Amino acid sequence: MTDMSHGYADMMSALRQSFASGLTRPLDWRSGQLDALERMLKENESAISEALVADLGKPEQEILLGELSLLYSEIRHARRKLKRWSRPRRVFTPMVGQPGRSWVQPEPLGVVLIMGAWNYPVQLVLSPLIPALAAGNCVVIKPSEIAARTADLMAELIPRYLDSAAVQVVQGAVDETTALLQQRFDHVFYTGGAVVGRIVMRAAAEHLTPVTLELGGKSPAVIDAGADLESAARRLVWGKCLNAGQTCIAPDYVLVSAEQREPLVAAMRSQLDAMYGSDRLASQDYGKIINRRHFDRLRAYLDAGTVAVGGQVDETGERIEPTILVDVKPDDPVMQEEIFGPILPILTVSDLDEALGFIKAREKPLAAYFFTRSKASERRFVDQVSTGNLCINDVLMFMSVPELPFGGVGNSGMGQYHGKAGFDRLSHLKAVMKRSRFPEIPVRFPPYSDFKMKLLRWLG
Ligand code: NAD
Repeated sequence: MTDMSHGYADMMSALRQSFASGLTRPLDWRSGQLDALERMLKENESAISEALVADLGKPEQEILLGELSLLYSEIRHARRKLKRWSRPRRVFTPMVGQPGRSWVQPEPLGVVLIMGAWNYPVQLVLSPLIPALAAGNCVVIKPSEIAARTADLMAELIPRYLDSAAVQVVQGAVDETTALLQQRFDHVFYTGGAVVGRIVMRAAAEHLTPVTLELGGKSPAVIDAGADLESAARRLVWGKCLNAGQTCIAPDYVLVSAEQREPLVAAMRSQLDAMYGSDRLASQDYGKIINRRHFDRLRAYLDAGTVAVGGQVDETGERIEPTILVDVKPDDPVMQEEIFGPILPILTVSDLDEALGFIKAREKPLAAYFFTRSKASERRFVDQVSTGNLCINDVLMFMSVPELPFGGVGNSGMGQYHGKAGFDRLSHLKAVMKRSRFPEIPVRFPPYSDFKMKLLRWLG
């Protein structure tokens, strides 16, 4: 452990020197790094696919949709906006500060640690890297060891394309990460579960280092009375089956009225047939569970309620059929933790009030979904549900809008990124005021008087 820490200390001091030298400050360097990152992805799409297939059995189209497209769009957006985001931002100076000018000046933080999770092992380390570089930081990347092939590939590619004086990759599991977290960073950007999130935050607190925690949670989907069930079913099963349900913003469970439940389940069954055929476990368009531990964890959930659709497993391939559970009770194990797999419990509620009450009685989710045709219900849902992200009549698609900040609230995390939110998160927004030396209005200086007091009140 001491040896490992020592190695990290050397790496950190080299990165600090690079940062202090001003290497990462010029906008040309930053956009050059974004270009290099784009080149890295474009030139290695097939190697990336191979690694993701080995780790998660991801279908080609899901790799494009869930990993690469998002990165390409974030890179393009950051490159286009870089100048504007990094410019001083003028703010209003009130009368008492006149004559004078005030502005907010973004500056890089220093050395940022990015720790990714295994479920989107390319996207989750590289999409925070984009704002980290755009904001002019040095970066240490710690990919998840659980998606081992992808982690190895990241460690091989990144030094070949990005400036090693500013970007380093550290590989390893708990021991290495524990040692790494003893180092002083200027920001720790963590994606993963809440248990480790607490460990990360505790370690960061030793250095008063700010953290961004991109966690998970049970993201609800609510079907309103009169909703378009066909469209809701199609979108929900797609969102649940993408990456075999191992998506932090996948709909975790569905709340629906008793009358709509059967038609919804029937629509989901026919959508699953249309997407994956009758032998769903054999479908080329459907991924695998990351490892045996998660496979066993998910299989145990199949005991809850009644299996309405699916329920088969393939032990050797570590695959679980897309499964819809009905008659699930709120205190069943499947309703206690984030499912993070292709199992969708459907619970019945009497109306929207009960659905809202159910959601509000639980931890704040990372995402919430509402299927409705009613403007009034939509307004109620948007106003009343506290969640990181919210989507009406679809799932997941807010990820395609770079101007929408992404991140959790409460138990689902803290801090947001994507687009400008990411740039601001990984910058310090330095507040600057410039005063004119003349004229000097002596109202704030002693000796104090009634007249000065009145004037001060008037000036506000
Ligand atoms: P994981 O096991 O890959 O862990 C995440 C990171 O923590 C890895 O880099 C790992 O090396 C490190 N780590 C693990 N144990 C550690 C320890 N004891 N000390 C220090 N570091 C340690 O990922 P996971 O936790 O299984 O991730 C799944 C969770 O992540 C789910 O809850 C999911 O919802 C959430 N998630 C959130 C987002 C988001 O953007 N908000 C995205 C993906 C996943």
